[in-house]
Amino acid sequence: MAQQFGTFTASELYCPRCGRAQPVRERLLLILPDGELYEFLCARCATSLGKRTVTAPPRPLAPVAARPPQRRGLIGR
Ligand SMILES: [Zn+2]
Repeated sequence: MAQQFGTFTASELYCPRCGRAQPVRERLLLILPDGELYEFLCARCATSLGKRTVTAPPRPLAPVAARPPQRRGLIGR
């Protein structure tokens, strides 16, 4: 009876392929400029059940570390 909903995480989602709710696995799909895109996969059949975008906290704008210009001409081949 003691149900606790401490953290809001989708631990189970309905999987149409399995025909029932299944535990899901979270997988980092790709990293966006302002967050990360996760995909929920059925832990049983690995069907994609949904996506979730986790927005990263705003960071102070830092200059992108530019690669130093390559010196040409010094090494002659
Ligand atoms: Zn499934």
